[in-house]
Amino acid sequence: MTFIRTLIWFVLAGVAMLGAVWLAERPGNVTVQWRGWRLDTSVGVLLVAVLILILVGIALWLVYRWIMGAPGALMEGWGESRRRKGYRELTQGLAAVAAGDGTEAQRHARRAEQLLSEPPLTLLLSAQAAQLNGDRDSATRAFKAMLEDDEMAFLGLRGLIAQSLRDGNQQQALTYAQRAFALRPQTPWVVHSLFDMQAQTGQWKAAQETLETGMRQKVVSADRARTLRALLLVERSRSGENDGNDAQALAFAREAFGLAPERIAVASRLAELQIKSGDGKRAMKTLEKTWSLAPHPDLAELYIKASGESDPLKQVGIVRRLTAQRPEDLESNLALAKVALDAGLWGEARRYLDAAGGSNPTVRVCRLMAEVEERAQSDQAKVHDWLSRAAHAPADKAWRCSACHAHHESWRSVCESCGAFGTLHWRAPGTFGQVLPPEARPALGMTTMNTVSGG
Ligand SMILES: [Zn+2]
Repeated sequence: MTFIRTLIWFVLAGVAMLGAVWLAERPGNVTVQWRGWRLDTSVGVLLVAVLILILVGIALWLVYRWIMGAPGALMEGWGESRRRKGYRELTQGLAAVAAGDGTEAQRHARRAEQLLSEPPLTLLLSAQAAQLNGDRDSATRAFKAMLEDDEMAFLGLRGLIAQSLRDGNQQQALTYAQRAFALRPQTPWVVHSLFDMQAQTGQWKAAQETLETGMRQKVVSADRARTLRALLLVERSRSGENDGNDAQALAFAREAFGLAPERIAVASRLAELQIKSGDGKRAMKTLEKTWSLAPHPDLAELYIKASGESDPLKQVGIVRRLTAQRPEDLESNLALAKVALDAGLWGEARRYLDAAGGSNPTVRVCRLMAEVEERAQSDQAKVHDWLSRAAHAPADKAWRCSACHAHHESWRSVCESCGAFGTLHWRAPGTFGQVLPPEARPALGMTTMNTVSGG
């Protein structure tokens, strides 16, 4: 390449030299005459003048190009600084959100929006700022705009779910949760929220499918999933029975019992259906198994019903059979005391209640003691004594929600107070640890699948 270029230069220089020699050998004159103006010169000078004119022309062209190109370069520099400013506003806005200053965040969000041409980023800030300021309409608008962008759609849905739940619009929240679940079934909060909402609206089958996906994605632990599935089956069994399909109801209840025999609700469901189908013996076996794991007054009542025994004196013997596996348990002693009381065996009832109460009898023990004294027609002072003790006695086990600690009269799958599914346990107060703050509960659905099991 270099060689060829050198060669061309040599050839050009040679041609120029030959031209110069040729011109010098043939000196000619040029005369220009124009409107009384005359110029005498040689051909060589004229050629040099033409060459200079061409060079000046090229120089002017370059200057023109430079001037025309400058604004673009300038604009570019300006845009760069605009973007930098925009990002600074964005950062300051996010910091304001973190600090909980809504007004400041909204101010930065507006400026970032003007400076940056990247809606997804500024939308998130705008939405959060609006939320902090309690400006629901602006927040909803920003979250909905985020749905247009593939990458931001998921975050937008999260905002919309929380917003709908706060508005009490369960159906709307469920629709958004389903969209979020379709986008990212591996995200824990999506699985938890969708599950809770499906359970709250009684969509047991759909909830079970969500739970199974959650288990496959390792969002729910296997143990927790086992109990939740059992409780969903209890609900499906109830629906089946309500629809008149007892065979299916029994099948669901059996499956549930196979999964979680330690759940009182599961054992009760199966025993009820077994009694209904005339299989009292099998119902008694079911109840005995669960009594050994988690004794509960409902189980004792069903046990008597399953035995078909109506003689109160014989019922004492029947309950003794049930409680034989856990004779020391408070529930065993209370169940025996109750049945003895119904049979009019005052002494025996007192003995069981003494064993149940120990040195610090609970409210239930004190009340039953008062009832024994009342029905045994003892001294009224004794009755009053027990009733006044009951007023200050330690609280008994009851159906308590492990998520919000709310107290319930009877078991239900969905907590009436916080909406979590499967969180009701037969427990004494103060056995669950800390209560989750309300905002961490239904909206993010983190309670149902993460709380303690058992009971
Ligand atoms: Zn609750």
